[in-house]
Amino acid sequence: MAVKRIVDQNPNLDDPAAETSLRPQTMDDYVGQKNLKDNLRVALEAAQKRQQPVDHILLHGPPGLGKTTMAIVIANEMGAQRRQTSAPALNRPADLVSLITALQPGDILFVDEIHRLNRRVEETLYGALEDFQLDIVLGKGVAAKTMRFDLPPFTLIGATTRPGAMAAPLRNRFGLVHRLDFYQVDEIARIIRRSADLWQLNISDEAVDFLALRSRLTPRLANRWLRRARDYAEVHSQGKIGLAEAQKTLDMLQIDSLGLDQNDRQLLSAIADSYGGGPVGLTTLAAMLGDEAVTIEEYYEPYLIQLGFLERTPQGRKVTPKAQKHLQASS
Ligand code: ADP
Repeated sequence: MAVKRIVDQNPNLDDPAAETSLRPQTMDDYVGQKNLKDNLRVALEAAQKRQQPVDHILLHGPPGLGKTTMAIVIANEMGAQRRQTSAPALNRPADLVSLITALQPGDILFVDEIHRLNRRVEETLYGALEDFQLDIVLGKGVAAKTMRFDLPPFTLIGATTRPGAMAAPLRNRFGLVHRLDFYQVDEIARIIRRSADLWQLNISDEAVDFLALRSRLTPRLANRWLRRARDYAEVHSQGKIGLAEAQKTLDMLQIDSLGLDQNDRQLLSAIADSYGGGPVGLTTLAAMLGDEAVTIEEYYEPYLIQLGFLERTPQGRKVTPKAQKHLQASS
């Protein structure tokens, strides 16, 4: 069994009310992702001028980088109503039909984990995306009849951590496709400062910078570390978060100077020690760590690759000399 990942990107590990209270609501509040915002601003303004909904938008990138938040921002900026679902919740075409036929003109439909739509639901969606028409088959066999419904024009925003797992015809129906990148450290520090102000926390600049460097360039984790530091400070220092409190918080969580947790270090050491640095196949790694291959791909690897610690090669995963150095220094 793998140790529970403290850097797990699953939002359910967070306090949902706290997450909601921190979500930026407007483009100006949304920190970083300049290229994405520049492109969206043009698309939103043009759509508003034409008095039409904006083209369908696909947002992809590692978890916790702000895809859901951006969908909320877009809806707010367009003054549109937002309906939200997740692909695994749409089991049958009928689930999609009832959702989509309830849309009002200009509404935004946000579908999280869109790569997990099942084939039949996906096919039902094609016509709705292309020309706002829905073909529904009623009855079975020779008596089956296809009914066509007109839909109000709407915008689908899809979010995915795995764009490569989406069927090409679905991907091609999005007019705007954007990858969210990891943030800069100073942007993460701004996000922590913003959250601390919203919660009226007493936190020093050194503590903000310390947490920012260990947040894996990911807003969700930055906010999570801030919450843990707040807890620690409430118990130990009357709520004051200085550098010492920030350090103690992350020491207790066994987060190292680059934001890696025990599982990351275990993954890197497994390749470095047992396989002489690699390459190691993904399934072998998954078996060694007692984790699923897809978890390793989605949660562990993007940041390790971003750090230049891990390489994906056709033969398997390899650790770099930079990673070996970090492991030695922290052992
Ligand atoms: P994703 O959908 O990509 O998994 P979310 O949109 O749920 O990520 O973001 C996780 C949390 O991080 C949100 O609750 C939000 O408070 C914060 N966050 C994300 N992006 C930003 C940003 N650009 N600026 C400020 N906070 C952000």
